[in-house]
Amino acid sequence: MSAKVDRPLPGSTPRMRPFWAAAGQERLTIQRCSQCGKKHFPPVAICSGCLRDTLDWIDASGHGTVFSFVVMHHVYHPYFADKVPYVVASVKLEEGPRIISNVIGCDASDVEIGMGVEVTFERAEPEFALPMFRPSE
Ligand code: ZN
Repeated sequence: MSAKVDRPLPGSTPRMRPFWAAAGQERLTIQRCSQCGKKHFPPVAICSGCLRDTLDWIDASGHGTVFSFVVMHHVYHPYFADKVPYVVASVKLEEGPRIISNVIGCDASDVEIGMGVEVTFERAEPEFALPMFRPSE
């Protein structure tokens, strides 16, 4: 019997804080420029569409498609020892931006570029949840 290994969690930055606060409430959020409407993720300080700093956070639909992915077979952290193989994917949200996450809820061998996915959340700590994606229903 091995000791329980805590799940490694992503680091954060002041700019990412609203994203993680919303994820803790199981909401997937992205930035939207209130001037030109361009949507951004990861968050930016200045809109690349109009060069203004008029950026708000909005809820994303949670739907997207697999843009690209890799299947991880190597254990880079003891937490993942019993989780390989797992999928790390770039998911293109239907709003446009892409987000790096995991595809769960299916065999790694079933993941394909272009497949429809929807957000789900893995509760890692009482106030912290990780957005992940599963095949769309
Ligand atoms: Zn803009």
